[in-house]
Amino acid sequence: MRSSNKYLLIAFIFLALLVFACTPQDSSRIELAASVNPEALPSLKDKNILIVYGGWPGHKPELFAEKAKTLLAAQGANVTLSESLDIYKDATTMSKMDLIVQSFTMDKIDNDQIKGLVKAVKNGVGFAGAHGGFCDSFRDNTEYQYMTGAQFVAHPGGQLEYRVNIKGDHPITSGVNDFTTTTEQYYLHVDPNIEVLATTTFNDKADEWIDGVVMPVAWTKTFGKGRVFCIALGHDPAEFDQPEAKQILVNGFKWAAR
Ligand SMILES: [Zn+2]
Repeated sequence: MRSSNKYLLIAFIFLALLVFACTPQDSSRIELAASVNPEALPSLKDKNILIVYGGWPGHKPELFAEKAKTLLAAQGANVTLSESLDIYKDATTMSKMDLIVQSFTMDKIDNDQIKGLVKAVKNGVGFAGAHGGFCDSFRDNTEYQYMTGAQFVAHPGGQLEYRVNIKGDHPITSGVNDFTTTTEQYYLHVDPNIEVLATTTFNDKADEWIDGVVMPVAWTKTFGKGRVFCIALGHDPAEFDQPEAKQILVNGFKWAAR
């Protein structure tokens, strides 16, 4: 055999062995990718979704409600908007809902309204939202705060550019890479009973004693039979035009809906 043919034969055997050795590894990788595929999230088609908005106008609740409605309608959901918390007292309407999206910063919720909301979520209606419209609503109401997973207490430094770091391999964040955003960096009092999907790390520029603190940016939890999702971004609803933020928001809605 000529020496060039010998080298070709050796190269062929080496390649064949390499392909054989790699085959099982590749198929297991495909299985892993499929298990965290965002398509695994349930469809929102024909789901009944209530968007409740209002409260402090600085968070543009109506704009957030319109944006959420557009995103949900694009998924085939039946969307109802309400500017009144009294809808939480309407047990018939609430029992028909699959998901409640709330954007209602600060303000007050009365006893009958919170009772209606808590009952619906405990019975399995999903509950989701963003930023102050969800995790800074009704500051004097601990029944509400018991559901949400975290409560806003400060945004040191105001508007900042910062990194959002994706954690784990939850279907909500599947395929989303770490990204940079410019908004308020929410400092939250956090319920230990949450699953953290994304975090941000504080530096010492505004308050030196929080340097290095790692804070949830997106999370899930359950409350009774209900699924709860929140993303802390969104001081300006236009932030959800950024593909990563939009994908987490829409996937969070899908995950939370029953
Ligand atoms: Zn804000």
